[in-house]
Amino acid sequence: MDGAPRKLQPSSASALKTGEEYKASLDDGRQIWVNGRKLANVFDEPALAAGVDLMASMFDDQFKPEYAHATTTFDEKLGKTVGRSWQEPKTPEEMVNRRKMIEYTAEKTAGTFGRPPDLAPTIAIGIASLLDRFKGAKSAFDECKPDFAENVARYIEYGRANTITAAESLTGPQNDRSHPQAQWASLLRVKKVAKEGVWISGAKSVGSVAAQSNEIIFTNLGYPDTPPEAKIWGAVPINTPGIKLISREMLSNPGADPFDHPINCKGEEADQLVVFDNVFVPKERIFNLGDSSLWGLAGEATLWAHWHVLTRLMVKSEIYVGAAQLVTEVLGTGHFPGVQGTLGEIIEFNRAIRAFILAAEANADQAPNGTMRPDVTMITAGRLFTIRHYPTIVHQLQEICGQGLVMRFGKNAFNNPDIGHHLHELLPGKGVTGMQKEALMNFIWDLTGSSHAGRVALFENVNAAPPPRLRERLFREFDRTEMVARVKRMANLDF
Ligand SMILES: Cc1cc2nc3c(=O)[nH]c(=O)nc-3n(C[C@H](O)[C@H](O)[C@H](O)COP(=O)(O)OP(=O)(O)OC[C@H]3O[C@@H](n4cnc5c(N)ncnc54)[C@H](O)[C@@H]3O)c2cc1C
Repeated sequence: MDGAPRKLQPSSASALKTGEEYKASLDDGRQIWVNGRKLANVFDEPALAAGVDLMASMFDDQFKPEYAHATTTFDEKLGKTVGRSWQEPKTPEEMVNRRKMIEYTAEKTAGTFGRPPDLAPTIAIGIASLLDRFKGAKSAFDECKPDFAENVARYIEYGRANTITAAESLTGPQNDRSHPQAQWASLLRVKKVAKEGVWISGAKSVGSVAAQSNEIIFTNLGYPDTPPEAKIWGAVPINTPGIKLISREMLSNPGADPFDHPINCKGEEADQLVVFDNVFVPKERIFNLGDSSLWGLAGEATLWAHWHVLTRLMVKSEIYVGAAQLVTEVLGTGHFPGVQGTLGEIIEFNRAIRAFILAAEANADQAPNGTMRPDVTMITAGRLFTIRHYPTIVHQLQEICGQGLVMRFGKNAFNNPDIGHHLHELLPGKGVTGMQKEALMNFIWDLTGSSHAGRVALFENVNAAPPPRLRERLFREFDRTEMVARVKRMANLDF
């Protein structure tokens, strides 16, 4: 079933949601504030609504033959077609097919959504890959004894069967970082325990896409001697009473003419501070409640999310190469050796990221539950490589655009009878009209120079752990034994 193009209809043979069904699932009484204003629902803010529309189009694409392979698969256990987002790849082929889904969502958003609908499922896949570790774990509270392993297994099946979307947040709000305990006031922590579940308070930040998702998967990063009441891991619907979503300012241009803002007119994934004010987490939705052996597994569970991030960056780097090539064509600058060198560097960036991805997959092994596990050291090194070079590459792409990236006038100016003819006469490029040239520059502006692009650039730098922590991770996880032994042999060292 995993290959041929197919057209699907919503039916009992499929667990797929349509775009309309996804949108309807968000109108559930969730509490969202933007700029201090309480929204009636997520559609009450144009930038959020446009972002939802873009994600809804991804749900609809599942039913089109040209996207069906990348976005859906057949689940033998359910006996149904399901979204590929929730597929746990068990063979190298399934892993490559799962990557096609990441490439699809990255292309759909020009890489600007770091948390498209298929991101959070990678967290659930990561948690499920550690199922054996959850099996022996025990609640620290006698009053509530969830079966963590059963809950994890049930959650991934629930996600798959219902094509749910989720935010995932490990990070706590930014406050005093001078000593770990200073975070205490904001850590999620258990306030009340009962047989049927727990009540938690605290906050999560940055909950990207939380206002536009069905659920939130949460845990704390905490510190080594974090008390049991803050060693909590679970997932709840985003409309659970007590959850308040406080959004950052909006940065995109919803409703703008697609000529003026081809990317930003499609809205954004916004980031929210997610306040938990006495939120009930049912026993069945708890993955950890105070067990120290599960504490610190979140890093391992995020491997597939990091693979997602790097794959999305690979797609983005392909967009940079394509855009840079087009710039040289419309400006007629491709014959300058300096421009060729700049384009060469952008290509080098793309080829290197692709190499990291292919190497991570070639070196993949299987987690104890059989899920294919890309090589974490290749993923981490690849992410560090992209973080280091990203600003330079963006700068180079902007550089070869010259003034065109700033001197953009908009569709109305081109159509204005008093000034439009000047623009049409003065601005044509090589073999293209002034408007055609500007359409390309508008795309690159949205991608690299706009406020929205600024948020995306910050996201690329620090999402899923900032570079210093990634380097520490590489230090911890890269086995140097063989390399050390080789140097000892070569240098005749006898210690
Ligand atoms: C746009 C955006 C979206 C995000 N989305 C999500 C999300 O969906 N889910 C989620 O969980 N998180 C998300 N994050 C949060 C992200 O994971 C954190 O920003 C990141 O882990 C850094 O943590 P911090 O911002 O709290 O940095 P802080 O702890 O406030 O530290 C500030 C800086 O100090 C340095 N620093 C801090 N600690 C150390 C250390 N131990 N060693 C060396 N240097 C250090 C780093 O340079 C760091 O960037 C998002 C962030 C951004 C910007």
